Amino acid sequence: MAVRRRPTRQVYVGHVAVGGGAPISVQSMTNTDTRDVAATVAQIQRLSRAGCEIVRLAVPDTAAAAALAAIKKQVEIPIVADIHFDYRLALAALEAGVDGLRLNPGNIGGPEKVRAVVKEAAARQVPIRIGVNAGSLEKEAMAAHGGVTAAAMVASALKHVRILEDMGFYDIKISLKAAEVPLMLEAYRRIAEVVDYPLHLGVTEAGPGLAGAVKSAVGIGILLSEGIGDTIRVSLTGDPVQEVVAGFAILSSLGLRHRGIDLISCPTCGRCQIDVEGVAARVQQELQDIPKPLKVAVMGCAVNGPGEARQADVGIAGGPGFGLLFRHGRPVRKIEEGDMARVLIEEVRRLAAEEEED
Ligand code: SF4
Repeated sequence: MAVRRRPTRQVYVGHVAVGGGAPISVQSMTNTDTRDVAATVAQIQRLSRAGCEIVRLAVPDTAAAAALAAIKKQVEIPIVADIHFDYRLALAALEAGVDGLRLNPGNIGGPEKVRAVVKEAAARQVPIRIGVNAGSLEKEAMAAHGGVTAAAMVASALKHVRILEDMGFYDIKISLKAAEVPLMLEAYRRIAEVVDYPLHLGVTEAGPGLAGAVKSAVGIGILLSEGIGDTIRVSLTGDPVQEVVAGFAILSSLGLRHRGIDLISCPTCGRCQIDVEGVAARVQQELQDIPKPLKVAVMGCAVNGPGEARQADVGIAGGPGFGLLFRHGRPVRKIEEGDMARVLIEEVRRLAAEEEED
């Protein structure tokens, strides 16, 4: 069943449209020191190759803000500056040419300071994301709404939204992140009822690896399946490239977007005749740069293997000491077990290149 998406306004983060029916974008955040231009650019380029469409950078001080212009010149994807407390950092980031700001206007000083930032952002058509985090809610919101609750998170977001609206600024996105999935679900559902700004979804501090990806997939996936959400960030402890991989996996599993390799590999069992885990891991790792949606199957034996491998664009089904390679449903040849990963990867690259040319 196709997901009916919630209608929203549309904002542009650089060339990437968010909301208003635009494809749901996948974003991430660098974990390098922003002042280290070379390391940050290298990480953004890795993220970009993995499909990341918007990247956020922490801007904790003036040295980090000063690095933004040099970073911006060397990367293609839009950059969002993450600012807390100091409006001068927001002005410096805008001056450096960033494509988006993440800041809460109630936290950067009095109205005159906010006005200075809003005026500059409006002049440059740079949107602002209001990012409410359950872990750092204002005392007043908690006191008025019974602690860290969805109502308190929504009230906090609306307070910041009103500050911008009162200044005639509507290029707004909103996030309401929490580490607990039920809390973030309720907060996003509530805000979706009362504003039409695009929503940036995420489960914050989701944790490392598999546990974090599962938590994020449940929280983000449930909302997306309800039509809520316009851009997503999976927060994982570790290499941010994995956030992008997980983000596209969530979108792909809901049929919302397809990018890159959709890997189908069997869980293996006592019948398994090849190293499914090793081959699947190499395929996943080495083919991250392919944007073309292709289905690749790695199956352990002849029980379900040939069926799945046939349905994939490229597949391999295990036999005793060899794998049978399929391409578009047709068996191509037998491959020695030691060569399977390499041959499969080459075959997928060849197919991706051919289909690009068509
Ligand atoms: Fe087991 Fe074969 Fe199924 Fe893999 S494809 S889980 S090895 S029966």
